[in-house]
Parts: sequence; structure tokens; C-alpha cells
Amino acid sequence: MNKLDTGIEYLKGIGPNRAQLLREELGIRTYHDLLHFFPNRYVDRSQFHSLGQLARNSAEIQIKGRLIQIKNIPQKRGSRLVAILEDQQGQIELVWFRGQQWIQDQLRLETDYVAFGRLNWYGNKVSMPHPELTPMSHFEKNAFLGLHPIYPSTEKLLQRGVSQKVIKQAQHQLFQTLTGKFSESLPKILIQKQQLIDKNSAYRYIHFPENHQQLSAAQYRLKFEELFFIQMQLLQKKIMRKQQIKGYPFQKVGAVFNQFYKNALPFSLTDAQKRVLKEIRKDLGTGIQMNRLLQGDVGSGKTIIALMSMLIGVDNGFQACLMAPTEILAQQHFNSLQEFLKNTTVRIALLTGSTKKSERILLHEALENGSLDLLVGTHALLEDKVQFANLGLAIIDEQHRFGVAQRAKLWRKNKLPPHILVMTATPIPRTLAMSLYGDLDISVIDSLPPGRKPIKTVWRRDSNRLQVFQFIKEEIQKGRQVYVVYPLIEESEKMDYKDLMDGYASLQRSFPRPNYQISIVHGRMKPDAKEYEMQRFLKNQTQIMIATTVIEVGVNVPNASVMVIESAERFGLSQLHQLRGRVGRGNTQSYCILMSGDKLSEDSRTRLDTMVRTNDGFEIAEVDLKLRGPGDLMGTQQSGVLQLHIANLVKDQDLLQQARTWAQNILSADPNLQQNDHQGLKTALQGLTQNKAIWNFIS
Ligand code: ADP
Ligand code: MG
Repeated sequence: MNKLDTGIEYLKGIGPNRAQLLREELGIRTYHDLLHFFPNRYVDRSQFHSLGQLARNSAEIQIKGRLIQIKNIPQKRGSRLVAILEDQQGQIELVWFRGQQWIQDQLRLETDYVAFGRLNWYGNKVSMPHPELTPMSHFEKNAFLGLHPIYPSTEKLLQRGVSQKVIKQAQHQLFQTLTGKFSESLPKILIQKQQLIDKNSAYRYIHFPENHQQLSAAQYRLKFEELFFIQMQLLQKKIMRKQQIKGYPFQKVGAVFNQFYKNALPFSLTDAQKRVLKEIRKDLGTGIQMNRLLQGDVGSGKTIIALMSMLIGVDNGFQACLMAPTEILAQQHFNSLQEFLKNTTVRIALLTGSTKKSERILLHEALENGSLDLLVGTHALLEDKVQFANLGLAIIDEQHRFGVAQRAKLWRKNKLPPHILVMTATPIPRTLAMSLYGDLDISVIDSLPPGRKPIKTVWRRDSNRLQVFQFIKEEIQKGRQVYVVYPLIEESEKMDYKDLMDGYASLQRSFPRPNYQISIVHGRMKPDAKEYEMQRFLKNQTQIMIATTVIEVGVNVPNASVMVIESAERFGLSQLHQLRGRVGRGNTQSYCILMSGDKLSEDSRTRLDTMVRTNDGFEIAEVDLKLRGPGDLMGTQQSGVLQLHIANLVKDQDLLQQARTWAQNILSADPNLQQNDHQGLKTALQGLTQNKAIWNFIS
């Protein structure tokens, strides 16, 4: 057994209890985990803060001074020990709530001490609870000077006595045990050219740096290595998939496609749409399963690409399906596809949770005997009873709403896997896409159909509501329609529904019948009631659609020109962008009005400012990534890829690009890693595969 696989309970000073705590709180199980448990900060212990000017934050700092007073102060339960430390500029209270007696015995009045810990501010009064306290004489003798690592920790660990000191000692012990010898995993030539330090030094310097230079060299090497191995895994997977996973070859583009293109397509495709369609056609013809992600901003025209890809399937004798995350959206897709197909022989049906049983039976039969070509639907498509005669292509709209397991289910319905096209309107920043979907092929529709006017976005306070209502009236006067959207957050569902209903009542007062008709749609309504309201709005029988975020994805009502978002500060950026994308779909000038309260956090302000500044989904996604970090972005939660120890996808974008280029070059020169210089790499990769660190997309 590899020594690194040893459980940490065997490390001197840890034992079963601490091991269990470390496992539960920090996920540290083995020597390997501990070695890769890196400090998240370093404090320069050659620096002391003056007691006269202490910063009002909660970072650990180091101070020094003379101990001038020790006192026990009774409180509700027991007492606290307070010691006052003084330097030329000021004083600070050191406070202990536990273990007072033992500490008090150690303390010596009129002695110089170094104290290390977090500050606690109470009004203008500052104290340092439970500091790490060292007599000055001892501090100097033991040359504490240097960079002092701070490891991530949790409240529980601190309470149970697993302090920074304990973790540091464990790291020391680990290096003693392992004798600090790690076999090199990166090729020599890479180390040389990328100017990396060797692996042994990197681990040593990350845990015990003597100076900033050592530390940054270690960080650089370890970040690079982390990103590089992710890219190696993703690219290897991509290569493997292309070699092994066969797919149905769609060799021809036939009459169905061509006639649609010539006679039925109501507009000409944009250059971006043409390019993407070409990429898809090429994939479909190769005999290898397509796994493609189609990114395109809201309104960029993905639906028609989906349809035309499915028609290629039909031309080759296959069925295809299009899956949407909500009933409304599935219905909408079905309506627009049916409209596109009205003068063709292509047979299409809709299947959702609310499809009637009698219809369902007919539909299942038509699917199984192949008399149905295209099926549009929701999760209902994944039920076991739904059996295709020959599913050749599955298209998944708005990918972030579907889990991995669900996608795999589609796959299982066939002998050969169907081709997969995942469409998303959530623009994923390049770096993130590279890490998340590095094994997928990516197509991007990067321009909007001609004639679209950029949506004008404004941000208004609740106090401006009357003007906003006036503006809405003018737009309705011109024949336009308006969305008003309310947030709905699960945790505060009750309050949110109340807000929605209050808003509805207020709109009804300001926009009275019969001049104005208002639709309302929210999650507590039955599907057919929702659908009924959607249809009324779509047919322009109602001018205002008030809704919770159920309309977020995909709804297409080109005559709607105003999107009012209530409590906009409560929405995430990508959600705001999605919502805004519901207007601006025709060729009239459209508007997005963000309503907010007055008290806003810094982040909310940035979000709303960003929305006002730009319509560009990719720019918005970059800001979102910076604000939230990759872990929070939609759809990335399942991703093991993003559990990075040291690299940061926002800050280390350049390094990621370099790592990817290295991985590409190495794999194209030596796909099976047979060269001598690649042996360490090969071994390391095998180890990683065993740990299954990577997210399995689809397969
Ligand atoms: P999304 O990418 O958000 O799914 P849709 O596919 O719903 O966008 O397209 C938005 C609107 O633009 C639809 O009404 C669609 O018919 C229209 N559209 C798509 N492509 C073009 C084009 N090339 N020229 C003009 N209109 C187009
Ligand atoms: Mg869409």
C-alpha cells in the first residue's frame, strides 16, 4: 500500500478521536489529504501591529507588549480572565473564558509577551480572546520569525481543541514520517520550460515557507499542477470517448431537411447559426456519439438549430426528442416547432406530466412503432414506459435544470447512445467552460438575429413606482405587453407569495378592467391553469403578466416589450439576465426595469449596475463568477472538478490556459503516455482515476 493512503489516525498526535473530527469537519482522511490540505493564508510573524492603530477586521494579527494587569471578572456563569497588554501607543485586553486557572498560573506580570489571534471589537473597545501567547524571550530564542501558515478550520474543531497548533504539528509529523520524498509527477521538460520548482520543495514550502519567495514558487507550482491534471483528465476522457463511444452515423442530409430549408424556414439563418449547424452536422455524420454543448445568449435563436438538427435525424430514419425543464417551456417549444413544421410531413407530439392518459397510450404506441418522428416534453420523457423505436438524437434545453443522472437515463433507452446536444442560455465564462466541459465540444451562437434593438435597462427605487406605472401605461397604449416578475425563494416562500399577491392587488388597482387585463402565473397553480394564463398573454388578451420566476426560462412572446423585476436585488445576475431576455424578442425597442429597495449590499449594487451597463451575457457571467465564485454558478454544484485546493478559476485564468495547452501538446504527441519523461505523469493520472475526482458528464 502506498504510504500516502494511510489513515490519519495513525499519525502521531492525532489518534481516532481527532481523526474522526478532521474527517467530518474538513474531509481529511489520509496522509495524502493532509498533505494537500493547504494553508489559506500566511501571517508574517516578523511584523507586529501597534496597539495604537489596530484594524477593525477579524484577521489574525500579531502584537507585543508588557503585561501590566491580571484580573478575574465574574460574569453570569463563572468568570473570565482578563490580562492587559500595553505598548507605547495603547492597551488591549486579552481575554479567556475557559481554562483560566491554568493560564493564570503561567502569566507573569511586568513581562513582555507576543500575542497572536483575532481581534474582537465592541464599540470602541478592542480585545483579543484566547490569544496564542508566547513570552518575548522564548519567541526570540525559538526564531518564530518567518511566515506563519493559517489553515482553514471550523468552529467545532476549535471547540474540540484541534487548534492551528495541532494541525501544524500534524503537518510536521507527516513530513517526518514521509521523510519528505515525493516522486515527481510532471515531465522534466515541462518543469524546465514552465519554470516550476520540484515537487518536494513545493510541498515543503507551501506548509513551511521561510520567506515570500519560497511561498510564491510553491503556490505557482501547485496551482499549475492542479489545473494541469484536471485538463489532462478531461482531454483524456474526450479522446477516449471519441475512440470508444460509437453513435449512429447520420450520413445524409435529405429531403426533409432540404425542403424545410427551402420552403418553410421563415427567415435566413445568421452566420453564427449557420456555423453552429455545420459543426453539428459534421458531428452527426462521423459514427461517433456527439456530445455537444450549444451556448447562445437568450434570444440568439437556439430553437431553430435544435429543430434543424432533429430534421437531419429524421432524414436518416431516426427519432429525436427535445427535453425542457418546465411544462410551460415544453408547451412553448412544441407550439413553435409545430408552427415551423406546419407545411411538412414531420410528425411531432408533446408529452408532459399533464398529458391525458388516453393520449398517452396512443403516444407511447406511436413512439414504439416509429410513426412519430419528434417528441417534445419534460421529465416525463424519462419515464420507463416511454420507449422509442429508434432514438437518434436527444436535445436538452437549459441544461442546468437537469441532473447528471437524468441525462444518463435517456442514454439507457438505446442500444447505441443517442447523440446529445445540450443547449444553454447561461453563458459560461471561458475558463469555467474549460474546466467543466473540457471534455465536451462546444458551439457558440455569438450574435443575435438582425434587427434586434438592445434592451434599455434602468434601475428604479420603490419610491419611483408611480412613474414606472405611468411608463407601463404608455407602452400598453402602443399595443405592447408587460411582464412583472417577483422573486420566489424557497426559504421565504410564504412571504414571497404574499408579496406577489399584494403586488397583484396593487396592479389591479392601478390598471383596472376593462381597459387592462392582467394574467398571473405562479408555482402553486395547476399546470392547465398556468397554461391557460400563458395562452391568454400569448394571444394578447392580457397586457400584463405578473409571475414568479416560472417564466425565467425560454418563454417567447415577441410582443412583450417591458420586463419589470421586483426586488431585483434578491435575484442572482444570471437569473436577472435570463429574465431580461424575455423581452427584446421582436423588433420593437424593449425595456427592463429593475425595482429595488434603498438598503442594498455591495454585491447587490454591483449586480444591478452590471445589468444597467451591459446586455452581453458573457460579460455578465464573468462578473457573476467574480462575485459568487465558481462553486455557486448554476449547474456546477455536482462538479467534482471545481473542488480546487489551491488554484482559483477567477484569478488563475492565464495559468489554466497554459496548463490546457501543455496537456493538449503532451497528449497529441504521446496519447498513451509511453515516453520515458511521461511515466511519472502516467502514474499520477492512474492514481487520480482511482479517486474518481472527475465529474462524469453523461457517460
Ligand atoms: P433562444 O436562443 O433564447 O432559445 P429562440 O430560439 O427562442 O431563442 O429565438 C428567439 C426568437 O428569434 C424566436 O422568435 C425565433 O423565431 C427568432 N429567430 C431565430 N433565429 C432567427 C433568425 N436567424 N432571424 C430572425 N429571427 C430569428
Ligand atoms: Mg430557448
